[in-house]
Order: sequence, then C-alpha cells, then structure tokens
Amino acid sequence: MINNIAVLKFGGTSVKNIGRIRHVCELVNKRRREGPVLVVVSAMGDTTDYLVKLAGQAAAEPDKRELDLLLSTGEQISITLVSMVLRTMGVAARSFTAYQVGIFTESIHNKARIVDIKTDTLSKAFEENDVVVVAGFQGVTTGGEITTLGRGGSDTTAVALAAAVGAPVCDIYTDVDGIFTADPNLVRSARRLPRISYEEVVEMARLGAQVIHPRAVELARQHRVVVRVRNTFKPDDQGTIIDGGEQMEIYRTVSGVAVDKEQASVAIVEVPDRPGIAAKIMRAVADQNIVIDMIMQAFHPKSGLNNITFTVARTDLKPTIAVLNQLKDELGATEVEADQDIAKVSLIGAGMVHQPGIAARLFSVLGEAGINIKMIATSEMKLTCVVSRAEADRAAQLIHDAFELGAP
Ligand code: ASP
Ligand code: MG
Repeated sequence: MINNIAVLKFGGTSVKNIGRIRHVCELVNKRRREGPVLVVVSAMGDTTDYLVKLAGQAAAEPDKRELDLLLSTGEQISITLVSMVLRTMGVAARSFTAYQVGIFTESIHNKARIVDIKTDTLSKAFEENDVVVVAGFQGVTTGGEITTLGRGGSDTTAVALAAAVGAPVCDIYTDVDGIFTADPNLVRSARRLPRISYEEVVEMARLGAQVIHPRAVELARQHRVVVRVRNTFKPDDQGTIIDGGEQMEIYRTVSGVAVDKEQASVAIVEVPDRPGIAAKIMRAVADQNIVIDMIMQAFHPKSGLNNITFTVARTDLKPTIAVLNQLKDELGATEVEADQDIAKVSLIGAGMVHQPGIAARLFSVLGEAGINIKMIATSEMKLTCVVSRAEADRAAQLIHDAFELGAP
C-alpha cells in the first residue's frame, strides 16, 4: 500500500446537499495537494432515518438482510456525488462501495463488526487516482451479503480503513468543533477539549456523548490511529485530538459530563438468591445480541430474594422484556418491570481513580438539588447515576459547575 494517505471522514450533515458536498470537495481538493486522500462518507443528511422509516412502513419487523441492503444505498448515493463533484474540479477521484473494496464483516445483519479489509482494490485505485471515496457504514460477508455496522458506523469504517492503509491519523469531520466537556446544547459553559484520551472518549461516547462512535475510538486505540475530530465548516480550527493521552491524568482529574436519554431499565423482581441465576439472565439477553449496561442487584435478607435490575438501549427494551418473561417462571421470579423514565448522567475522567471524594461531592450536589438517584455505577474512569429523565439536564449542569469543567 502506498504511504502517506490522509483519511478524511465526513458525516451526514457535511454532505447534506450538493452545496455542502461542494464545500467538502474543496477541502478534499486542498488536502490532496499534499498527498493521496481516502475519503469516507456517511449518507446525506437524514437519508438513513428516512430509509429506516420507509422500511417500517413496508413491514412491522423488516427483514434484517433486506434492511441492510436498503440502508447501504444511502452511502452509495453520497460517495458517487462526492466523486462526481471532485471530477468537475479536475481531481482524479473514484468512488467504491464496501463490497468493491472488500470490507469484510461478520455475518450479522444491522450491527456487524469488521473482520478484515482487503487493500488490493484500494492500492490499484490509488495508482490511478488521487482521491478514493469509500462508502461508510457498510460491509460485505464472505458469502457476498451486504451488511451494515450499526447506526453511526461510518466513523468505524474510517478508522478501520486508516488502520488498513497504515495512516497514522484519521480526521473525522463533523458539524461541531470537537469534543466538549458536556453537550453545549445542554450545558452553556461547556468547553472544547483540545486533547483527550481514547479511554475517556470511549466512556463519554458510550455514556451518551454523540460526537463519535465508541466502536471507532476503540478500534483507533487498538491500532494506535490518532483521531482528530474537526468542524467541516471551520477547517482551520484545531478540533480535538484523541490519542493515547499519556500523562494526561496528571493535570486533569475529570474531563466531562455525559447524558444518555436513550436507555431504559428492566428489573426482575424477587428471584431466589442462588448461584447461576444472574448468569442465566445475562446469557439469555446476550444471546439476542442485546448489550446490557448497568447492572444492580439488591438482596432482601428477610425474604432471601434478589431484585436484579439492569439497563439496555431503549430500542432493545421490547425484546429484553420478551426474553425475561420467557425465563420468569423457570427462575422463580414474581415479576418483570420496566422503567422508561430514566437517563444516565455520568462524570468521566482518567484521573478520577486517584481522587477519593469525587463520588461524595457528586452525590452531595445531586442531593442538595433534590435529585433522586435511582441507580449508581462506578468504574476507574466514570461515575454514573441514573436519574429521572426530566432531571437529567439539570443534573448535568450542576455536576459540570461543581467540578468547574467550564474553567479553562
Ligand atoms: N448513515 C449511517 C447512519 O446514519 C451511518 C453514519 O452516519 O455513520 O447511521
Ligand atoms: Mg449519520
């Protein structure tokens, strides 16, 4: 593979219409003067949402294979248009689908993971072109079926391609200035972070910050690809650099607050306190490809029974309840209960582990504000509280202020 390829990814808002595509192409045209450019694009604007909606109108539970084939058309539209515009600018550009490149995934529809990327088609394309435009979000199985990587998956495509072609940096162009200490729409004093570690970003993204897909950052960490999140419309701005973050925790304890309103919690009420019960529950849910997030078990000494509560993505709530209802009698549980009125508010920071007292401070802030905490989870790098959804934004603002995250 040729050296020195710049990998640039543009999200849906950056290629929303032909005017914006033209702007993107001007930026790409500038970059290709410094060397070959591999462009990855998402579908235009809300195209994928629109396609999902159409599928929902066609069938209550659209066939997953057909859905992938449908959704992959969104990126096929944007790559061709980007390539066409580049060619009008005199740039030697060609577009390719994941199938054409050979972006191989596992044989799972709707959220497949990339297993291998072939580089021969890309190498050949770069012999004949200065810019190669590749469709994000899609893949192909060894059996030739089209898959998709899950919503927001184009970031993952871009990082995987950067790793495959040996690019040290992957630029993720989006419609915000970078990664912030909190969502600036929720917290006014939120501030752009010039630099952040992979670990912190993975936590932030997982916990609800929506700038970059957590799988993409995980992949970047594995392959040591530096990711730069930048604003398409302010190409001279610094953005945020995501890298190994060595020594970062020495000068920063906490980095940001994230809010996730897309979760729901499920409780299995009064199951016997016996070894193997939790395993059975988690296995059954995992077998449906559903990711369980926070888990809480409360034991009632008087009855000898447990309540096991956990959170899942709101979109996974229905199948989760169905699985648990099937298990209910076998486990000897009395009830399966769901709570949709929840939001996770999390404080993230690589340096938290060395600072006792952070949890106490956070709980006092919420307590003084009269915000009830429904669940708590902690790890080395985060502290998460589940609160009522209506109180989530206020909680985030209070925590952001209490930890002085807005201060430069
Ligand atoms: N177009 C896909 C989506 O909207 C993939 C992406 O944007 O990254 O989810
Ligand atoms: Mg998108």
